[in-house]
Amino acid sequence: MERPQPRGAGSSSSPLGIYAMTTQLYSHPACIDHEPGQSHVESPGRLKAVLAAVDAPRFAALERREAPKATRQQISLAHPADYVDFVLESIPSSGYAAFDADTMVSPGSGEAALRAAGALCEAVDAVVGGTAENAFCAVRPPGHHAEASRAMGFCLFNSVAIGAQHARAAHGLKRVAVVDFDVHHGNGTQAIFWDDPELFYASSHQMPLYPGTGAVDETGVAGNIVNAPLPAGSGSDAFRAAMTGRILPALETFSPELIIISAGFDAHADDPLAGLNFQDEDYAWATSELCAVAGRACGGRLISALEGGYDLDALARSAAAHVGALMSST
Ligand SMILES: [Zn+2]
Repeated sequence: MERPQPRGAGSSSSPLGIYAMTTQLYSHPACIDHEPGQSHVESPGRLKAVLAAVDAPRFAALERREAPKATRQQISLAHPADYVDFVLESIPSSGYAAFDADTMVSPGSGEAALRAAGALCEAVDAVVGGTAENAFCAVRPPGHHAEASRAMGFCLFNSVAIGAQHARAAHGLKRVAVVDFDVHHGNGTQAIFWDDPELFYASSHQMPLYPGTGAVDETGVAGNIVNAPLPAGSGSDAFRAAMTGRILPALETFSPELIIISAGFDAHADDPLAGLNFQDEDYAWATSELCAVAGRACGGRLISALEGGYDLDALARSAAAHVGALMSST
């Protein structure tokens, strides 16, 4: 079998399928073992629901990969080493520990967080290395609220920021973009990217809402931060207008060498934590649009990571729509 070589336009649409590329799925049972409290909304059942959804026959072509643990060196690309130690040393050997009122950990949480970040790094290696066109990391805990030195909002390590920095450190990429459609603003990713004009972060999110950041006038050091806040009650039309009017043009202008999606599905109309009204098909649409930018800008290189999403049925359907769109773009 020929090794896929050309990564430019047309390479994945060869009539003979010679260069057909694949979508990879990264996960690990340890990410189910992160247990933040029996009544916590960020439950193990979330990941079980996502994995069950992508176990359907139409996802048979997904290449399933076990997420490795990120190394301490990889995590330290986005977090100070003493913070990495603090988080890992805070994991209790029994019972629970709390970083804040929302962010609870139990004995399995350390390995889960390491594998969540490790999934991103391994997906970067595959997608930048050319063995996969794109990848979805079905992992938890989520990461986009984690700041360089602060765990918050269910998040310990900022996995997408670690993945972005790994792409630069290990593969020599310069410009990496993160696009975040979780209903909450990714304050952590924004803060980590703020001062670096070659890192780009764009977010659609409900505002006002936790964590309180994400205003239009938060633009980073060089216009490298693009926020599209949406008022409560906004639905498909407002989301698509924010994407086509602001986020996608800015992303295209940035000319990324890799796109990473912070894929939270809690802006869905059925989600209990917030008040936006996205539908299942909005996630397929947004994913296809982002894949199209990736196709034009960087040979289709795109990686997605699970963030929020708290209605299990809506989460499962939305994640399936998202992964289906990733597969369709290859
Ligand atoms: Zn969220």
